Amino acid sequence: MKMKFFQVVAMTIAVNCANFAFAAPHWSHDEQATWWEIEDTSKDLPMKYPFATCGVGQHQSPIDLATAKFDNTRKLNKLQASYPIDSAPIFFNSGHGIQVNTSNNYKGEIKIGEESYPLIQFHFHEPSEHVINGKPFAAELHYVHIGNDGRIIVVGAAIDIGAENPTFQTVLDNVPHEASGQKTDANITINPASLLPASLDPNDLDFYSLAGSLTTPPCSEGVQWYLLSQVITISAAQLEQLKSFYSDNARSPQNINGRTLSSTK
Ligand SMILES: [Zn+2]
Repeated sequence: MKMKFFQVVAMTIAVNCANFAFAAPHWSHDEQATWWEIEDTSKDLPMKYPFATCGVGQHQSPIDLATAKFDNTRKLNKLQASYPIDSAPIFFNSGHGIQVNTSNNYKGEIKIGEESYPLIQFHFHEPSEHVINGKPFAAELHYVHIGNDGRIIVVGAAIDIGAENPTFQTVLDNVPHEASGQKTDANITINPASLLPASLDPNDLDFYSLAGSLTTPPCSEGVQWYLLSQVITISAAQLEQLKSFYSDNARSPQNINGRTLSSTK
């Protein structure tokens, strides 16, 4: 079944960091400058350097948004987030960040024009990965979607300190503290949409878009990024709780290499 296959791919991505699905070599954010040269000693060339793209890729993420030129001649499709309540989310500690994997039957998706991409997982970085003039936000949320054609769409939202976010508190209170730990509880549901401000129209989101990559090994390219124009908030206490899991789990900005940014405004 087509759907099943992509769910397997999705789970592979979701647990990839934890070395469950395939024996990817260990990596950490501290050594990000040399991710590309990490060797998989069990493999011969050309599989020996599984994270080579992190070094040689020309469309790497994240970026400093101030380094990008705008191209607003492109006609942009409407971005519509349909993230209903997931009644059986999996709270997951990837070993590199805190994450929520959606359940197998979850119907949440992002729609770009007429194309739909199921929401597979969302996770957090502290501080933000995308920066403006070198300045990061307090944190960043990434909603990861994978289409039936295998295409990856990430919707990112910058996080500032402000009002407490009750949905984020559910995440903080349920992700296990040990790496690779996961938890499901029949009594705990999650509404991924309620991480976003209530003032946002989910059927017409404002965004900046550009071509990029996964921000963690294997740094695969062909990822289309949609960075929401509106910042979301968590409280200072919630940021401290986030840091108690992982701190500085953000990749540095990468070269823009002539890529342009499109925006709805
Ligand atoms: Zn991310």
